[in-house]
Amino acid sequence: MSVLGVAMSLLDGKALSKKILASLALQVENFKNQYGRVPGLTVILVGEDPASAVYVRSKHKSCEKIGMKSEVLRFSDQITEDQLIEKIASLNQDAKVDGILVQLPLPEHIDTESVLAQVRYEKDVDGFHPFNSGRLLRGQDAMVPCTPLGVMELLAAHQIAVDGKDAVVIGKSNIVGKPMAALLMNAGATVSVCHSKTKDLATYCRHADLIVSAAGRPNLLTEDMVKDGAVVIDVGINRLDSGILVGDVQFDEVSKKCSWITPVPGGVGPMTIAMLLKNTLKAAQQFESLPKP
Ligand code: NAD
Repeated sequence: MSVLGVAMSLLDGKALSKKILASLALQVENFKNQYGRVPGLTVILVGEDPASAVYVRSKHKSCEKIGMKSEVLRFSDQITEDQLIEKIASLNQDAKVDGILVQLPLPEHIDTESVLAQVRYEKDVDGFHPFNSGRLLRGQDAMVPCTPLGVMELLAAHQIAVDGKDAVVIGKSNIVGKPMAALLMNAGATVSVCHSKTKDLATYCRHADLIVSAAGRPNLLTEDMVKDGAVVIDVGINRLDSGILVGDVQFDEVSKKCSWITPVPGGVGPMTIAMLLKNTLKAAQQFESLPKP
């Protein structure tokens, strides 16, 4: 219970993502009945990064769970940028591939931005292509990056209004912070984007009705930085030396003050995968709605 007597509630991304996956499974079945094929996601994995391998496995399993086709193309970290781009070009032309995801990070000799820009924007289910970033910023329909999209779904599913609220986004990456800020702005929030060069993070946070932390710094957001009754979304995933996974938020203390909060794990993480599958189905539906020659 907060000082003002506001009861804290958990934003359970695990439970919500299960519901979304169940609904997607039905939609995939309908898609199959209508078009005689299942939507397909192709993931490109370069190198042996263990965390990437875990993420890719989990995406693959979720696809299979809802009856979607999933293919993982593995390449050695010796692959050249040109070879990778050539592979993407052939996937762009493949009608059985609805979504293409290039698992990040890529090895240092490859220019990530150049590679991401090669993915056909209609198949860009991660929403990282500049075309999709631009459309999102302009408030137009786009493939939206999965993590911020998952945050918006969590808020909407719990009827947490964003319109007219003061929001702080901590982190300004292209993957999370910037698209998160754009989505909140498009939904009518007044958004401050804070980052590692922000002079006084606490002052921004203390005034916020909604805080989304995506910095990747354990214990960054502490109780004294949160207004009573605020909504706190923890995107951060940090593995401590002990092996334990934590977010950016000091959960035990902060949760006593806020109205809603996401746990880590079990908050934003599962929503991210659910949104990837949602985007893949959207790409497949958009492809099928195009006039056929
Ligand atoms: P990033 O490293 O690209 O960006 C981090 C941002 O945080 C930067 O803009 C940086 O300026 C800011 N920052 C760092 N330290 C700060 C500080 N002390 N104060 C204020 N700002 C600070 O990371 P990213 O890819 O955006 O990911 C951020 C976090 O979210 C990571 O922990 C990542 O693992 C996690 N993540 C989670 C999911 C999920 O599904 N839950 C998905 C993507 C990323």
